[in-house]
Amino acid sequence: MAVPIEYFDAPDVKALVVEIVSKLGFRHVEVDRVFCFRSRGSQSRRVVARIHSLGKVWQKALNTRAGYLIEVISERYDKLTQSEKERVIIHELLHIPAGFSGGFRPHRGFINKRILDKLHEEYRNNR
Ligand SMILES: [Zn+2]
Repeated sequence: MAVPIEYFDAPDVKALVVEIVSKLGFRHVEVDRVFCFRSRGSQSRRVVARIHSLGKVWQKALNTRAGYLIEVISERYDKLTQSEKERVIIHELLHIPAGFSGGFRPHRGFINKRILDKLHEEYRNNR
C-alpha cells in the first residue's frame, strides 16, 4: 500500500520566493497569492518541485483571484544545496505568466539553462 502524501506549510520556501521576487524584480508575481508547501510521500521519483495554480474556472467557482502554489518534494528538495534550491524556485516562478492569470508559461521559450543561469547570477549578485 502506498503511503498517503502529506503536505506541510513551508515558510522557508515562502521566504525564498519573497526574496527572489524582490531581487529579480518579478513585479507581476503577487507574493500574497503564492502559497508554499512541502510534501512528503510523493510517488514521483524525479520531481523536485512543482507549481499548481487556481485556474480561471476555479477562480469563477470560488469567486476569488488567481493563486499559485509551489510544492517542494521534501525527499529531494531538502537535500539540495542553497544554490540549487534557489534555481529550483526561480524555475517554478518562471512558470507564472505576466498577467498572473492562473495559467502557466511553458518551458519552451521561457525556461531553459541559459535563462536560469542568467537570472540566478543576477539574484546572487544582488545580495
Ligand atoms: Zn518547469
